[in-house]
Amino acid sequence: MANLILILGDQLTTDISALDGADPGRDRIVMAEVHEEASYTNHHKKKLVLLFSAMRHLARQLEKDGWQVHYQKYYPENTHQSLEGVISAQIADFLPDRIITTECGEWRLHDQISHWQERLKVPVEIRSDARFIASKSEFADWAEGRKQLRMEFFYREMRRKTGLLMTPDGKPEGGSWNFDADNRRKWSGKPPAPAPFRVEPDAITREVIDLVEQHFSDHFGTSDDFHFAVTPEDAQEALNYFVEFALPCFGDYQDAMSDSEDWLFHSILSPYINCGLLDPLTVCEAAARAWYAGQAPINGVEGFIRQIVGWREFVRGIYWLNMPGYAKENRLGNTRALPWFYWTGDTKMRCMHQAIDATRRNAYAHHIQRLMVTGNFALLAGVKPEEICDWYLAVYADAYDWVELPNVLGMVMHADGGYLGSKPYAASGKYIQRMSDHCANCHYKVSKSTESDACPFNSLYWHFIDRHRAEFERNPRMAMMYRNWDKQKPEKREALLQRAGYLLEHLDQL
Ligand code: FAD
Ligand code: SF4
Repeated sequence: MANLILILGDQLTTDISALDGADPGRDRIVMAEVHEEASYTNHHKKKLVLLFSAMRHLARQLEKDGWQVHYQKYYPENTHQSLEGVISAQIADFLPDRIITTECGEWRLHDQISHWQERLKVPVEIRSDARFIASKSEFADWAEGRKQLRMEFFYREMRRKTGLLMTPDGKPEGGSWNFDADNRRKWSGKPPAPAPFRVEPDAITREVIDLVEQHFSDHFGTSDDFHFAVTPEDAQEALNYFVEFALPCFGDYQDAMSDSEDWLFHSILSPYINCGLLDPLTVCEAAARAWYAGQAPINGVEGFIRQIVGWREFVRGIYWLNMPGYAKENRLGNTRALPWFYWTGDTKMRCMHQAIDATRRNAYAHHIQRLMVTGNFALLAGVKPEEICDWYLAVYADAYDWVELPNVLGMVMHADGGYLGSKPYAASGKYIQRMSDHCANCHYKVSKSTESDACPFNSLYWHFIDRHRAEFERNPRMAMMYRNWDKQKPEKREALLQRAGYLLEHLDQL
């Protein structure tokens, strides 16, 4: 029985379940760079380079290993510009008994592939993606009957399941499940942050860079200084580099932001984990080993592992449990368009400029920039969820619908009514000042709230609190905010609302 095996652009590993039991002498692998996938959003140029180059490297490796691979390189004049087009041409050519693939990472494509069997008249087997620690049904079982889903409890289940940082008698190592309280230091330049791990582009990557520059020149960002890994071996080197040089300080400075340093002590591994170059469990095991060997402290190692077996698995579970309806949620009733400066970085707000400019150059910004700067601003300004979600999906090298959507729509925009997070992460400029040195270099004054040079986050924060009283006043985690707001003199409240009203009318000029 000959099979046609489809490997998608975020399934770039020979361990993918679609290849389980496959036979190089009998089956044919299909990989394709198609216009439909490369352009359903304004993908950052570096993301396109990463994926096309990593796909080409994997295809070359598979061929070397003796597989028959049909690989379609991107050309605008290709006859088949969708995966369905490529597969249906391959069916005509190869006459397979079956199509096999691993479940994909977004609803849009999942929906298409689940109709292939009836449309293409060939049996289609969609296998579960074993790269995740919890399967979709395992998550659904855990979630069943719970009114609100909280990551912390799910995370403990995943720690128990994997045995990561667990004592032999089933207790969390270090005596606690979570050391987050130790992970909130501001970074003032010391200790120095390691330079990001670099791989110089080889001939395949250089060819892809030219292709992207030629055919995707209107996409967001730049392909200049492309230095991502594009093979599993180099991604493994990136992991080793992180464990040795950044993990020891990862926890302490996890929430810090810097005016002069793009990467700080973050791992920069999400682009590799999400496209298959690195296995998430292997990554966590490497971090855990560093703790057992005394090379990194528990707060950093636990915090890092929590992001992967906790948050990463949790948001994926939420996505599949609630799609396709989840993408349409807008419980705070937001109506504002995304300010144009999200695409240019052209704003006098230093924190926003730095986060967007780093995003444009690197296809990367770290978590706190995404959550507390660009995300926080969109939340306070009441931007339409679908517009800010589209932005996040386009601009990061690690962005895929299953991980981007819950993070943006749920965690940042609270558009799901608190299903994912118990309270919105709304914050004034004080938070950004506490965690960064941006404010010292800003046109606006973080100490002011109502004047024409006042930090926009300050009045927008109170406007958000005021306009969403009905949604949040009874939330115990927000009660203090309402007490603080109500305690302010009426004239002060009025001035804050006026300043915010003006800003909301002039968002594009900030
Ligand atoms: P590190 O800080 O080193 O963290 C380690 C790993 O933990 C990451 O590589 C990632 O795999 C995982 N991780 C951490 N936080 C999360 C999280 N909240 N959800 C899922 N995984 C997490 N992550 C993506 O992979 N793709 C996205 O499209 C994406 N969009 C986001 C949008 C917003 C608004 C926010 C607030 C977060 C988003 N994240 C996304 C999560 C997180 O910001 C990135 O995973 C992280 O910044 C990647 O950089 P890193 O590898 O250096 O992470
Ligand atoms: Fe951002 Fe406000 Fe600080 Fe400027 S003053 S950097 S806008 S928080």
